[in-house]
Amino acid sequence: MPALETRAALDKAAAAIHPDQVSWRHHLHQNPELSNREANTADFIVAKLAAFGIEEVHQGIAGHGVVAILRGGLPGSGVAGLRADIDALPVKETSGVDFASTVVDENYPGGPFPVAHACGHDCHTATLLAAAQVLASVKDQLPGTVMFIFQPAEEGPPPDETGGAQAMVDAGAFTSASPTMVFGMHVAPIPLGTVGVHVGNSYAASCLVKVRVQGQQVHASTPWYGIDPYPVAAQIISGSAQIYRQIPATNPVTVSFGHLEDVGRFNIIGDHVLLWGTIRCLDDGDMATAQDHLRVLVQNTAAAYGATATVDYLQDIPPVNNTPDWVSKVRPVIEQVIGAERVFDSPAVLGYDDMSVFVREFGGAYFNYGVQDTHLVGNSVAPVEGGRGMAMNHNPEFYADDDSLLDYLRIFVHVAYEHLLDLAQH
Ligand SMILES: [Zn+2]
Ligand SMILES: [Zn+2]
Repeated sequence: MPALETRAALDKAAAAIHPDQVSWRHHLHQNPELSNREANTADFIVAKLAAFGIEEVHQGIAGHGVVAILRGGLPGSGVAGLRADIDALPVKETSGVDFASTVVDENYPGGPFPVAHACGHDCHTATLLAAAQVLASVKDQLPGTVMFIFQPAEEGPPPDETGGAQAMVDAGAFTSASPTMVFGMHVAPIPLGTVGVHVGNSYAASCLVKVRVQGQQVHASTPWYGIDPYPVAAQIISGSAQIYRQIPATNPVTVSFGHLEDVGRFNIIGDHVLLWGTIRCLDDGDMATAQDHLRVLVQNTAAAYGATATVDYLQDIPPVNNTPDWVSKVRPVIEQVIGAERVFDSPAVLGYDDMSVFVREFGGAYFNYGVQDTHLVGNSVAPVEGGRGMAMNHNPEFYADDDSLLDYLRIFVHVAYEHLLDLAQH
């Protein structure tokens, strides 16, 4: 079968499978699981892959990771990796959709937590499943191999556990086949059905920051008899907001603390305070600089108050780097599939995504896909009048338009197929 016919067959199969893609998405959305707890999600994925006749399925990789390998019927050296993250977030959903999550995880460390797919990984997972079915239906025409990579714990496992993309690599997920590229797209509140492409570092480098300020417990009415860790914590939070001034102002860096844990009460000054935060930077060279400055700030602030403090940097994630070379290969394929007018240059973000590990290891690209009623005003996104509004990822109101997921699916399968053709012809 010539490539032209295979391309048409891909589109036909995608359209036919789209209703299933949407119903799988709704199922996953109603049954979200937190990072490193995606057991039922993985079982759902594996059952579907078996139903599509995909024989080589590896599960239980780095927790609940699943890798499926589809070996095509034509000769070719390409191994196209398509990736979806499968975990949800500790967010109480208020999207208002009739398949909204009401799940609560009672046992998660630090919980109980309400759980929701507030980052849209249900869309990624359902679409990757649909892509597996579409590509399996034209298996005999594929000149190479496709790998379907279902990755757990993208949002970060509990701090004392490992998990995510790097853990999958370390666990040998790619020993039976090694991708020659990995591609994915994150759903985002950019205009419906558009693809936002950024060349260079597109998602930030990230680390989790854990600061422990050690004081000495004392009655709140007599702080001079103990060591109060609270002013130290407060000064560290304030001071950390100045770290950007020690890094070239042209490089975006943020240092934020989003969670504080203490052991006191209104009339007891507790003996320690824990601060949890994150450093983000687009130029990965700035990470070590920011970490050094924060360490100096933490230790010296503690010393100034007679306390002690430690700082740990955990869960290091490299930036997603889309090289010009890979973008020039993948972007034209997407433009062919959905029209060049729906592909635009988007700014980099300070969010992270550990897809960066796969892109760095195997090549490939990672873009954003629009699933909300928004439009571009200059370089910014704004809600369309009369639409469902704009809700950022991780927001309780985050939503994704089901119909738009068909073109997400078409992009997935065409990018994989064209990559295989490309390598088969060289
Ligand atoms: Zn997220
Ligand atoms: Zn995400």
